[in-house]
Amino acid sequence: MSEHSETGAEPISVDVVVDVPSADVDQAYTYRTNGVRPTLGTRVRVPFGGRLVSGWVVRTGATAAADAGASELKPIHGIESTTAQFGPDAVRLAMWLRRRYACTFREALATVAPRLLAGSERTVYTFAQVPAPADRLAQALHRTFDGQPFGALAATRAATRARLGLTGGKLRSALARLAQRGVLHRAVAGTKRAPKASRRPQFAVLVDSAAAKGSVQRRLAVALADNAGRLPVAQARRIAGASAQALRRAERAGVLRLEAATLLDASAGRGRPEQFTPTREQREAIETIDVLSREGGATVLLHGITGSGKTFVYSRLVDRVRSRGGKAIVLVPEISLTPQTVARFNAVFGSKVGVMHSGLSEGDRVRVWEDAAAGVLDVVVGARSAVFAPLPGLRLIVVDEEHEPSYKQDAAPRYDAAVVARERMRQAGGCTILGSATPSLETYHEALTGAIRYVPLRERATSAPLPPVQIIDMTQHRPPAGRAIGPALLAAMERTLARGEKALLFVNRRGYAGLLLCRACGFAPRCRRCSVSLVLHAADASLRCHICGDAFRAATNCPRCGSPELLPYGFGTQRVEAEIAELLPAARIVRMDSDTTGARGAHGRLLASFGEDANVLIGTQMIAKGLDFPTVTVVGVVAADLDLNRPDFRAAERTFGLLAQVAGRAGRAAPGSAVFVQTHSPHHFAIERAAQHDYERFAAKELSLRRELQYPPFGRLAYVGVAGIDAAHVARGAAQLADSLRGVKDVETLGPAPDPLPKARGEHRMRVALKSQSEDALLEASALARAESRRVDLRITVTVDPR
Ligand SMILES: [Zn+2]
Ligand SMILES: [Zn+2]
Repeated sequence: MSEHSETGAEPISVDVVVDVPSADVDQAYTYRTNGVRPTLGTRVRVPFGGRLVSGWVVRTGATAAADAGASELKPIHGIESTTAQFGPDAVRLAMWLRRRYACTFREALATVAPRLLAGSERTVYTFAQVPAPADRLAQALHRTFDGQPFGALAATRAATRARLGLTGGKLRSALARLAQRGVLHRAVAGTKRAPKASRRPQFAVLVDSAAAKGSVQRRLAVALADNAGRLPVAQARRIAGASAQALRRAERAGVLRLEAATLLDASAGRGRPEQFTPTREQREAIETIDVLSREGGATVLLHGITGSGKTFVYSRLVDRVRSRGGKAIVLVPEISLTPQTVARFNAVFGSKVGVMHSGLSEGDRVRVWEDAAAGVLDVVVGARSAVFAPLPGLRLIVVDEEHEPSYKQDAAPRYDAAVVARERMRQAGGCTILGSATPSLETYHEALTGAIRYVPLRERATSAPLPPVQIIDMTQHRPPAGRAIGPALLAAMERTLARGEKALLFVNRRGYAGLLLCRACGFAPRCRRCSVSLVLHAADASLRCHICGDAFRAATNCPRCGSPELLPYGFGTQRVEAEIAELLPAARIVRMDSDTTGARGAHGRLLASFGEDANVLIGTQMIAKGLDFPTVTVVGVVAADLDLNRPDFRAAERTFGLLAQVAGRAGRAAPGSAVFVQTHSPHHFAIERAAQHDYERFAAKELSLRRELQYPPFGRLAYVGVAGIDAAHVARGAAQLADSLRGVKDVETLGPAPDPLPKARGEHRMRVALKSQSEDALLEASALARAESRRVDLRITVTVDPR
């Protein structure tokens, strides 16, 4: 092919990140271009450690003058795909991501430009060596394609031109033979045509790491464990290098199980445009933020109480940005839980909106991604990963419910979408809006100190007052034995139903009972792979582990002492449902938890039936968010203290946030609504302040406690997780790791201690906590922990700024 390097204007070296999933090769390597001219973001083949591997070009542009030593470099072998998979912005963001969250360059790139690992690929060949003169086909192809990638179709054309008379199938097998002999290199490359969308993507879910036999099953177990126990089947196979049969063998061996994704109802995304006149306060917020967004680079906390119309403010601001030719991303904690927010954006922006969520097949995901990159979409609405949507001219990112923990990714890179949003807007000179009724204390502290702008919305748009909250002290007003609902809440529900209004009950656990407990000897069945009790499910009288999903038939007698008093203890949604059905004959109940919303469209159907003829909605977290039913006049929280007792410095913040959210579901338009909070800790400040709807005083107290203990926002945290099959090995490895981390200056190393979930899916888990005042020191320690993982054969995870 043509040689232009002597002109001096051609880039003569490029930096390449190799596609080798190992922490040992975590850097970009420089290669000589050797006549081929790959552009940024294309896939190339390079010599690496004595073999040829694929990689992505992450830097080009150095010319002969700037790159004097280029002749010493190894040359690139060839180009695999000429379609750029990402641009310079993505490379900048990936570099930032890698440092900030202690991940590898490859992990960062695959996150920023997820098509890198997507399945939308076709087979492409390049020459790995000069073919033997006797092989006519290879000679003909070499003359046509030397140094360039080609597909089977192009090869057929070349063969026809050379009058070799080979067609379709025969040619394909000839190519495969050449590849086998090492003459051709075979690779898959991106194609513009997205694969056909499958209706239900399948996921592989890790059940038991310890059951893995042989290296393939072990690789599958590690790949899944690294990704919070769950991956799309295609991705799990690719990472572990496992065949479809190997996957099925692993399923039979009990290492994993296959399940279909939960898909949300397509109708959840439709809605009518709302005619709305902004209140004075909303108008001021819109103008203030609009000015900031035109200046660029600003971050705003939009602190609006429930019902103050934050979504309306967002949509007006997105519209302003759009009118100036800019694009916007709107992040929501989970699409299926905020159907009304999505519906509003769909109604206002129509076909210019792309919606991204976890129920999309890989093909659909690629399509939204490509439409975004092509400039077809103006707005992308989605959960966490939509923060990377490649919109050209992106000027605004809205992070709704910014305090939600689901913005933190629980697989490497363990990024926080709200933090990524701010970095993206800093690099692009755009604006980030963090919206919440109960901001995270880190964000609120930044607003108090003036590091970011504070824009409050203090009035409810409907002018209905916030409902009164009654705290019920369950130590004083105990319900009858075996019951969850106390007399006050029950009476209020009865009155509400008699008036033809609706009630909502929040229960923080699904299933029937928290556990089965033998009243004679205290035995409670636990999962043998995970350190949790098994949860009783009534429908099929099964005991299920909520971590690994394992299920057993529930015994009637205690397996330890034989007593028949093996009885339910604690309350789940199913038990509360049964209790209400028994005590309130007028109740027409809808139950919403992940057991009832698994089927396609179930979520939308359940919500619709509650909106129409049902009158009691019982559910978990998923009913706390974003739902808006004006006729709900009683809201009950069955047990407010469950979250308060978690071993987490955010326990109070979470409890306050959840109570405020649940309380906000009541009486959004109706007078006389009430909220009942049943608790065993009626005087805890998180519960008292939530009952008074007093975020400011809650935050003041909680911030002073955090300051004392140097917890965020007054110090930075990172968790280093150490996991493995053998408990003693894990303990030793964690102790060694902690010792080496103690050497880092300005970082306090705590532990190792057992993880809050000390055993999961067959793996034992320890945790080392790192605390520091200095970001640099914390990142240095995190990088060191990451590097240590190469020396010990344990699974090490680093979580910077855990949520
Ligand atoms: Zn017993
Ligand atoms: Zn389990």
